[in-house]
Amino acid sequence: MHELSVCFEVIRTLQVFVAENNLTKVESITLEIGELSSMIPNYMQECFPAAVDGTMFENTKLEIEVIPGLGRCNSCSKMYQLLPVNGVCPQCGKKDFDVISGTEFNIKEIVAC
Ligand SMILES: [Zn+2]
Repeated sequence: MHELSVCFEVIRTLQVFVAENNLTKVESITLEIGELSSMIPNYMQECFPAAVDGTMFENTKLEIEVIPGLGRCNSCSKMYQLLPVNGVCPQCGKKDFDVISGTEFNIKEIVAC
């Protein structure tokens, strides 16, 4: 599963962060996942416990913020959310847009002590 390898990637980043800052415990981690990225938040939530099993992050809480996938119509310049309308502009009915947001995958916040 794609998400599992991403989980391990996130954990590697966490380990570096913890080592650099001499931390002993990570309370929670917040990920920003764009609606249009290939990542599925529910899968991430499901595979995270398996990925952190036996590591110092066993009790770390995973928070996920979903960023809506927005596009701007190339024909009438309207901004709209892409997924609910399958990419079709609600104003002029064309399917010709630039993606503005929604492809992100970031670690937004790490809460540690
Ligand atoms: Zn349009």
